[in-house]
Amino acid sequence: MVKKEKACRTCKRLATDEKTCATCGGNKFTPLWKGRIIIINPDKSEVAKKMGITTPGRYALQLGR
Ligand SMILES: [Zn+2]
Repeated sequence: MVKKEKACRTCKRLATDEKTCATCGGNKFTPLWKGRIIIINPDKSEVAKKMGITTPGRYALQLGR
């Protein structure tokens, strides 16, 4: 059973139980998001560059409200 993930409103990183974001330290999350990408090597990923991601991890492509 996979827990529903939430996305950080600041950097879009996905989290489950965390109260603060592991990447940016933010504490605002939204359960409304679409699309998931896994960034393994931000330096070599065009998507990561476009999104301004510098830390490996799982991210949402789009946030809801
Ligand atoms: Zn964040």
